[in-house]
Amino acid sequence: MEEDNETPSSSTLKSASKERKYVQKFKASWLEHPDFKTWLKKSDKGETKAYCKICDCDLVCGMSELLKHKNSAKHTKKDGCYFAMWKNVNFFEQKSDARY
Ligand SMILES: [Zn+2]
Repeated sequence: MEEDNETPSSSTLKSASKERKYVQKFKASWLEHPDFKTWLKKSDKGETKAYCKICDCDLVCGMSELLKHKNSAKHTKKDGCYFAMWKNVNFFEQKSDARY
C-alpha cells in the first residue's frame, strides 16, 4: 500500500487564510463613470479611499462600496437632483462584479 505523503491540505489551508485582505485602490476610471463622476473624488486620506463631494465624507474604495453609498439614504437625499437617473441603475448591479 502506497501512501501519498504529500498532504496538500495543510499548505492549501495556509494560502487560503491570507493575512492581508485584498484592498481596492482608487481607480481613475471611476471619475469618468457617469454614476460617480458628479460626486466622486479621490480622497487625500490614502489610495484606498474615495471621497464624496456631496456628503463631504470619505468612502472605502470599491465598485460595490461606491454604489452602496450612491444609493444610501444619506447620499440620495443630498443628491436629489439626480434622483431620476437612479431608475436606470438596475442594469448596473449586474455589472458590479466586473471591473469597470
Ligand atoms: Zn455621498
